[in-house]
Amino acid sequence: MPPPPAETMPAAEEETHRFPCEQCGADYSYDPAAGTLTCGHCGHSESIRSGPWKGTALQELDFRTAAADRLPEAEIEVTRVSTCPNCAAQVEFDPDTHAKECPFCATPVVTGTGESRHIKPKGVLPFAIPERAAHKAMTDWLGGLWFAPSGLREYARKGRRMQGIYVSYWTYDAQTRSRYSGQRGTVYYVTETYQQDGETRTRRVSKVRWTPVSGRVQRFFDDVLVLASNSLPKRYTEALEPWDLSQLEPYQPQYLAGFRAEAYTVDLETGFAEAGQKMDRVIERDVRFDIGGDRQRIGNIDTQVSEVTFKHILLPVWLAAYKYRGKTYRFVINGQSGRVQGERPYSAVKIAAAALAAAIVIAAIAYFAGQQ
Ligand SMILES: [Zn+2]
Ligand SMILES: [Zn+2]
Repeated sequence: MPPPPAETMPAAEEETHRFPCEQCGADYSYDPAAGTLTCGHCGHSESIRSGPWKGTALQELDFRTAAADRLPEAEIEVTRVSTCPNCAAQVEFDPDTHAKECPFCATPVVTGTGESRHIKPKGVLPFAIPERAAHKAMTDWLGGLWFAPSGLREYARKGRRMQGIYVSYWTYDAQTRSRYSGQRGTVYYVTETYQQDGETRTRRVSKVRWTPVSGRVQRFFDDVLVLASNSLPKRYTEALEPWDLSQLEPYQPQYLAGFRAEAYTVDLETGFAEAGQKMDRVIERDVRFDIGGDRQRIGNIDTQVSEVTFKHILLPVWLAAYKYRGKTYRFVINGQSGRVQGERPYSAVKIAAAALAAAIVIAAIAYFAGQQ
């Protein structure tokens, strides 16, 4: 029996990310190991790529059209989200659960009826690491930390579920043409004489001759990646890199079945400003290379940016957030590569005990050495 619709569906573009099983009507969820939609109830599975939902090619959208809010309605979707009162994450929640913890900070969140109207994802990197493997990676990582408080290691061993979350990113493409002016430095040596201890001595000294230069460089940027979320500290998400974006699939909501998706909270223009800073660093390197010589001084770089396109994409992250003695800790795992990143609470008692043990050993060695 198919589940009844949660409410009367108001907008046609609303995404629920629930797909009833063809055989029994229970919900399918995306199975990372098989790459299929699989029914948790009867085991029936359905291929995504060959199924009736077969995606279209991965396309870029024009940045200026979007910035002027003139994207076609087909590129916009509305999802039901709850906003975390602590970290402001906007996360989609299952319609049939009422109160949940925020997956990013473990703060209780009451499911609201808030709606997020946003640019549809274009691409999704499907989960490749199943939950069991993610959980093992977390317990292994934690098990290797002798200084973690025992309570925490027990907590991890208890087999608490991890949350599979698709985190929002922007990627930008752009053609850049830059004119620059600066100076090229050439190193040369002179022999100087100087007095020391009443004697005249000589030494070789390096000097730089500067010549004014100007020129042009150009570069096409492909898929400059910018995090579109504020829920995870950057040091986590940066530590999850690299992502293999060549594995991106055209977005289909079926990939989200059984997972959660976070709505972006960094808007398109803000994201582009950050992408621009990343591009500027590369352009500066190009300019230094173009100036050549032994040293370079850059006076001015004037960059024209054109043909800017973008994609909203979703990248897979396994996440476990927990509160330990009132403080939030998180483990994050790259759902594509399995790379683990986490916060390590230190047990002051264990560290103090280890320091004391070391001090005793040193004292004992010193004592016995003194006896001989
Ligand atoms: Zn079924
Ligand atoms: Zn939160």
